[in-house]
Amino acid sequence: METGFEEYPCEICGKPSKNFIFAAHVCNDPECIEAARIARGGPGGHMKRKAEGKPIIPVELDRD
Ligand SMILES: [Zn+2]
Repeated sequence: METGFEEYPCEICGKPSKNFIFAAHVCNDPECIEAARIARGGPGGHMKRKAEGKPIIPVELDRD
C-alpha cells in the first residue's frame, strides 16, 4: 500500500514525514514524535484539531 508520507512534511520540523502518529505526520526524530504527542493533547486530541477546522484525514481521502 502506498503511504505517500513523503508528500507530507513533518508537522514539527518540516522534513519529509515518515510516520503518521498522534494524528500528525512526523519524521523519525524522537523530539518530533514527542512534540506531536504533546500537541495532540492526549485522548480526543484529534477531535480538537477537527474543532479548530483542521483536516484530520488527508485531503486526497476526503474526496468522493
Ligand atoms: Zn520532524
